Amino acid sequence: MPNRVKLIVLDLDQVLWDHHDATSLALPLRRVDERTLVDASGDKVFLREGVRDFLERAKNKGIYLSTCSWNEPDKAIAVLRTFQLDRYFDLLMVEPHPEKDRMMEKILNHFTLRGVREEETVFVDDKEEMLEKVRRRYPRIRTLRFHPDGDVYSFPDLERILLGG
Ligand SMILES: [Mg+2]
Repeated sequence: MPNRVKLIVLDLDQVLWDHHDATSLALPLRRVDERTLVDASGDKVFLREGVRDFLERAKNKGIYLSTCSWNEPDKAIAVLRTFQLDRYFDLLMVEPHPEKDRMMEKILNHFTLRGVREEETVFVDDKEEMLEKVRRRYPRIRTLRFHPDGDVYSFPDLERILLGG
């Protein structure tokens, strides 16, 4: 890897969890087990395998973590809290629009103050369109598509790529 990773920015829907739209969930949420929660209408959200280990290990390495999610903030943050994952993130960036380049601007502004440069930032999303939007504005950010046809499709693999074996 050309630059040390200092900041990992993660999409939520279809990346951290196997659900396409946290905004569609009906509160309150109830945790069923380590990796499953159910909303008020019976809809389930499945956390990907290895997410907690990945976040834990990134934190232990001193890497900053942020979300970058197109959702109603109360819904997406409720999912993170129900899984008790919110505490791993230094910044919870969730906004109800698809302009992830605008969200990334705020994220970079936040972490620039902590000494993070664009080229030390990695952005992980399942949608190529979002990755492209961010790359157009910030060409030095490293992007990874989390998708069966993408760069990576599991957290243990993401861990190997970004945090080493
Ligand atoms: Mg997504």
